[in-house]
Amino acid sequence: MVRDITHFIGGTPTPGTSERWGDVFDPSTGSVQARVPLASADEVRAAIANAEAAQPGWAATNPQKRARVFMRFLELIRDEMDDLATLLSQEHGKTLDDARGDIQRGVEVIEFCIGAPHLLKGEYSTGVGTGIDVYSLRQPLGVVAGITPFNFPAMIPLWQMGPALASGNAFILKPSERDPSVGVRIAELFLEAGLPAGVLNVVHGDKEAVDTLLTDPRVRAIGFVGSTPIAEYIYSTANAHGKRAQCFGGAKNHLVVMPDADLDQAADALIGAGYGSAGERCMAISVAVPVGEETADALTAKLVERIAKLKVGPSLEPGMDYGPLVNRAAVDRVTGYIEAGIDAGAELVVDGRGFTVPGHESGFYLGPTLFDRVTTDMSIYLEEIFGPVLVVARAKDYEEALRMASEHEYGNGVGIFTRDGDAARDFVERVNVGMVGVNVPIPVPIAYYTFGGWKRSGFGDLNQHGADAFRFYTKTKTVTSRWPSGIREGASFVIPTMH
Ligand code: NAD
Repeated sequence: MVRDITHFIGGTPTPGTSERWGDVFDPSTGSVQARVPLASADEVRAAIANAEAAQPGWAATNPQKRARVFMRFLELIRDEMDDLATLLSQEHGKTLDDARGDIQRGVEVIEFCIGAPHLLKGEYSTGVGTGIDVYSLRQPLGVVAGITPFNFPAMIPLWQMGPALASGNAFILKPSERDPSVGVRIAELFLEAGLPAGVLNVVHGDKEAVDTLLTDPRVRAIGFVGSTPIAEYIYSTANAHGKRAQCFGGAKNHLVVMPDADLDQAADALIGAGYGSAGERCMAISVAVPVGEETADALTAKLVERIAKLKVGPSLEPGMDYGPLVNRAAVDRVTGYIEAGIDAGAELVVDGRGFTVPGHESGFYLGPTLFDRVTTDMSIYLEEIFGPVLVVARAKDYEEALRMASEHEYGNGVGIFTRDGDAARDFVERVNVGMVGVNVPIPVPIAYYTFGGWKRSGFGDLNQHGADAFRFYTKTKTVTSRWPSGIREGASFVIPTMH
């Protein structure tokens, strides 16, 4: 029996009326488990109107009271962690532990948002001219929207909606149509936590829904996370319609392994960061860059040993290292890249194609794949594969490794493993990438710093979470004020009495 997912508008589960549907799979079995309604432009406009009506009341609620809603939400989501992680894992395919991590990294931004009253404070200068004061206010934008990818169905919606709501905006979430249920459940929990109905609406859909959000003048800002071509499209279309936008795209994250690095540690890091979540992470390490032939030979041997021990299977089965990919199209796309790598002359060291899990033959699985001697002109080096494929691109020296990471068109994350502080400092200073790890493979910044890639991994000037997010979701009003003299003249200093 296939379940019908609903939109969530005005605090109410709202069935879709467009008669257009998308299939939501259970990637572990390959079967369809639900249908998601794909909203028409009219349905999206109704959600915008509803949010627009709810927003002024929320903006007028004092910031500390708004923060209390977040506190209550944190209790509710913690109580529901296991159920929510199961729901997430069943639609996405990541393991249960990894699903908990997905929720937890989002929850940490909600924790940060409890400090919103402090972050929303303006500035004040007294006496900038005779009797003149200047001050600034941060005011919400109004209705804002977020369009999110399939690979973090809890974390990224929470990264966007947290700062947006804490700043007094109404937020419309358009989650990925591949794993849409978690976004709806989060909205229900916010309602239960005391968020007024309509302040957080969820509409499902595809291009039609997204284009309606992008072009409707009532939506003042768009947060987007997904692939680079769509990020670019969203950024330019939102800007052309007078909206601010922050759009984060794809990645090809390098991990440079210096000859002095602890190679066991580096190999463990590469296995976790390369194959965790089946490589479907924007901060996955997809390129290992050992420096020098000796380092490369030793590192590759250690990777092969570890890959042989990886356990791949259904997302809810305990003990799995990673689960299936999100859908059949993803398996086909990644398989196509493996074939392209072979054709280009890369050395296929471990081949994950044709991998099946007994009893789950229709699931969307791929075994871990390792390429060595990959060169910078190959598509498996240049493009984001977004699957369990790690490529080793050997560098002859440190400068070449630094250049590879810096010159790649993507600039999301990068890492260096070394024991040499000088090399690490130089790397941090010079590498042309937005987030850097030193002996840390997935340098996703904590909630009170900001997250954002460079080059074609990010469009827009303000990052996600941290202080940047509060700048993104508010506009600054600056007031210059002078009061006419005279209040003291003729004033009575005697307590007023009834004459
Ligand atoms: P995607 O670009 O296919 O979809 C993202 C969102 O855009 C979805 O909500 C989808 O419905 C919508 N969308 C898709 N096609 C559209 C179109 N033609 N017009 C309008 N909207 C459209 O991305 P995905 O496959 O869901 O996610 C994986 C991608 O996201 C990877 O490239 C990954 O690197 C990237 N990602 C980036 C970050 C980051 O912070 N940089 C984080 C997570 C994921």
